[in-house]
Amino acid sequence: MARKTAAMAGALARLWAPWRMAYIKDAGKDSACFLCSLPKSKKDRENLILYRGKTCFVILNKFPYNNGHLLVSPYRHVGEIEEMTDAESLELMKLTGRAKKAIQRAMNPNGFNLGVNLGRAAGAGLPGHVHMHLVPRWNGDCNFMPVLGETKVLPLTLLETWDMLHPFLK
Ligand SMILES: [Zn+2]
Repeated sequence: MARKTAAMAGALARLWAPWRMAYIKDAGKDSACFLCSLPKSKKDRENLILYRGKTCFVILNKFPYNNGHLLVSPYRHVGEIEEMTDAESLELMKLTGRAKKAIQRAMNPNGFNLGVNLGRAAGAGLPGHVHMHLVPRWNGDCNFMPVLGETKVLPLTLLETWDMLHPFLK
């Protein structure tokens, strides 16, 4: 019974966030820093960049926990929050607030999770380049998977989410 419960928990974890599993498997394979490389390209929609500020930018997380999960990051490859300049620190928070407002208006969530993971032990997928996670939350969004089983986890594709949010960040 205990073994069956553990197996079910594993299966549910994969159902809940298949993107995360792909991400964890890929961790360490590619050392290129996407937060440095993507802003150098002009293809913002393709690269899921939602907004460019002076020192920081907003980008959808390619491996989202939820629809609208985005990252706010300085352009500069800086690994520690205390090494960020005053301008970067201020704009990081300002853009986080702006992105939160855009998500609120476009997607009407019931709440948000906001945070920075520092170091691999804390769950940072990309140590070395500070980024703020902003994750919109809806009532019951953690609870529906065990009930519905095979139902698609995220009803929106990343590009659909980009299209939904981009007008609100202009
Ligand atoms: Zn970087």
